[in-house]
Amino acid sequence: EHGLDKQPANYSSLTPVSFLERSAHVYPDKVAVIDDDMILTYQHFYRRCRRMASALTKIGIKADDTVTVLCFNSHELLESHYSIPMVGAVLNAVNTRVDAATLAFIIQHGESRVLLYDTEFEPLIRQALAIIESPPLLVAIVRDGGARQAPEVLLYEDMVAAGDPDFHWDKVDDEWNAITLNYTSGTTGNPKGAVYHHRGAYLAAMSNAMAFNLSAGAVYLWTLPMFHCNGWCYTWAVTAVGGTHVCLRKVQADAVIGRIRKHGVTHMCGAPIVLNLLLNDFHTGGQVLHQPVQFGLGGAAPPSPVIGRARQVGFHITHLYGLTESYGPSALCVWHDEWNTLPPDELARKMARQGVGLLAIDALSVARLDDGTPAPADGQTLGELLLRGNTLMKGYLKNASGTQEAFQGGWFHTGDIAVMHPDGYVEIKDRAKDIIISGGENISSQEIEEVLYSHPRVFEAAVVAMADEKWGEVPCAFVALKDEAQPNDEMEFIAFCRARMASFKAPKHVVFGELPKTSTGKIRKNILRDTLAAKVPR
Ligand code: ADP
Repeated sequence: EHGLDKQPANYSSLTPVSFLERSAHVYPDKVAVIDDDMILTYQHFYRRCRRMASALTKIGIKADDTVTVLCFNSHELLESHYSIPMVGAVLNAVNTRVDAATLAFIIQHGESRVLLYDTEFEPLIRQALAIIESPPLLVAIVRDGGARQAPEVLLYEDMVAAGDPDFHWDKVDDEWNAITLNYTSGTTGNPKGAVYHHRGAYLAAMSNAMAFNLSAGAVYLWTLPMFHCNGWCYTWAVTAVGGTHVCLRKVQADAVIGRIRKHGVTHMCGAPIVLNLLLNDFHTGGQVLHQPVQFGLGGAAPPSPVIGRARQVGFHITHLYGLTESYGPSALCVWHDEWNTLPPDELARKMARQGVGLLAIDALSVARLDDGTPAPADGQTLGELLLRGNTLMKGYLKNASGTQEAFQGGWFHTGDIAVMHPDGYVEIKDRAKDIIISGGENISSQEIEEVLYSHPRVFEAAVVAMADEKWGEVPCAFVALKDEAQPNDEMEFIAFCRARMASFKAPKHVVFGELPKTSTGKIRKNILRDTLAAKVPR
């Protein structure tokens, strides 16, 4: 140790709350948040968070208590990412598409003490409260002409107004303390509560800022829900660089494009479906972007034709991969200058790969499905993607066996099936549960979707397994067309696929119509599978 102490005396815990303190000091008068008519400078933003933190202590909230927030992207939800951790409490932001039974489950399982909610959700809240044994204290966020229903409910703005703007907060004494609790969407069974720590949130915010070239000039549009992995930690990353947050409650193409123009948006994130929605609008409106916009694309596999089209419109794509358990992004398709000269299709295919670990991730590994040993870097051998690093959850709340299983052998098991390419970049081929096993062969649903997206009439496509007497399973495609009114012919799309891939991989059936999606814009394949199961005669 060269005669020195292991840690310097002034060592302090890492917490992303310190980003706000710093930006309020460096950029007091700069616009931090735009939420429709509400514009907050960094000084304002910081003072409102301190006021709310002091108000939370007044109602008895202390370290390690859970505070649930049910609200669309807004300054209140953003403030909650600071005010709640300032008092050492744990933020539990809930998916706005939650049903009453799941909300009740989350509040009880997370032992939530307070529920902050947008009055738009009043009926849902009442339904959930009716089945909760010890209900949390209620705080209403009233916007757009809404109103609280019961006088005992506190008002968010009253709390802020009565709070102390100079409230003194301390950094957590231990950076491994919980900062947030994020429930997975749980398509089957009850959702699992992934617990994040201050240290992980700090590191994830820093590495996401670098992955996405964020700097003080950034104007970040909130197309990604803040309740989803804390907005992939951009709730903290944008503040860290002193950028501007532009809130958006609901993703609609005209609202997004309007804000890009009005506020000079430079960065935004979303699932491929969100990007596709915008591209379709650009296509029909014949518009282009007047300035390049960085788009952090992730949450589901992006078909390479979508990446290609996005580049033509003027979006700069950063492809990110991750999951709730990894604070959002954990892999990134890092750009190489020599790719600049590639033909557009080939480039888009390279960019559709999930890539390498973000800075705070130590290693990615692809473990062979048969014996768990590392798969060769041949771009062919399928295996499960495993992660190791500093931005993985502490574990699932009150679920020791689930946590142990997830971290078996010292690696986090993603449940995604990938290959390792010779250049060390991984490519996800499917979710383990989405892979189609036909006549003993593994077929990647994504590979078929990729082909379908290259058809000029296809707007969205998803492929799932369909039970088949002869083959066990066969691929069935669900397709939404750009021009629904035109006649559609199943055989034309099957032939299109057969001409472009091994014929055993081509879909055997095609179903036309709109595709069901999650709140983050992922296609709900479980619903498509259920539709098929319901059709099979028993
Ligand atoms: P949910 O289970 O509700 O989808 P998550 O947000 O945790 O919740 O989803 C993580 C999963 O999303 C990953 O395991 C992976 O299957 C998929 N995913 C996320 N980003 C990508 C990407 N860039 N490419 C392919 N799949 C992705």
